[in-house]
Amino acid sequence: MIEIKDLEKNYGSTKAVKGINLSINSGEILGLLGPNGAGKSSTLRILTGYLKPSSGTIFVKGLDVRESELEIKKLIGYLPESAPLYSEMLVYDYLIYIANLRGLDSENIEPRLKELADLCGIRSVMHKSINSLSKGYKQRVGLAQAMMDDPEILVLDEPTTGLDPNQIVEIRNIIREIGKTKTVIFSTHILSEAEATCDRIVIINSGVVAADGTPAQLKQMM
Ligand code: ADP
Ligand code: ADP
Repeated sequence: MIEIKDLEKNYGSTKAVKGINLSINSGEILGLLGPNGAGKSSTLRILTGYLKPSSGTIFVKGLDVRESELEIKKLIGYLPESAPLYSEMLVYDYLIYIANLRGLDSENIEPRLKELADLCGIRSVMHKSINSLSKGYKQRVGLAQAMMDDPEILVLDEPTTGLDPNQIVEIRNIIREIGKTKTVIFSTHILSEAEATCDRIVIINSGVVAADGTPAQLKQMM
């Protein structure tokens, strides 16, 4: 479903991504695991069309991400590491705003918001302002936002960074629920989190793929 080929990204003299090759299958929950600065964010931002590669290609369902920005944004829901949530707004109003931005038909918006509220466990906070929410709930609103127009692929950049252990479990459960019907790719620097959430883990270090396998396979290697 996703083919990353010889991907490189340089920022001036910093080589952030140094030749990543990776095939991602439909339906996988894939974790990109690696320390800060490994090149995970850069890779995810190129995949989602927000950043241009220095060289190499990414194809998503046969579409070159450099040439098909609008189609890619339909196919991929993306939650960046620091999602810009409009903090004074009520969750409900914010999600309506996002639904309109994504061009949902007005008669579909209410039913979609109900589905997302259930999926992401945010029913009880729909009429609270975003800035009154805990980090964990803000992240759930971010997930709802990313899932708004029912993308086939969900990409999450460090979705549990800064959350407490209970919140991490809640987000993991939502990701696993979404992963039953979608392809999910997320980055993390925490091994145990990748193990608990993913079908497959790709270890990224210094801009290259250092290992690739199921959590059980990687455990045997360590
Ligand atoms: P990760 O997500 O694994 O932490 P990143 O892709 O964010 O890795 O970063 C990889 C390297 O590229 C780091 O050294 C980082 O400082 C650098 N980098 C990322 N974005 C930029 C940028 N916009 N300008 C310059 N350097 C950057
Ligand atoms: P992440 O931890 O997800 O890799 P960062 O905190 O490294 O994100 O980066 C946040 C933002 O700052 C991004 O837009 C990235 O492009 C930019 N950035 C990261 N490192 C550098 C850097 N060394 N110089 C300039 N911009 C950077």
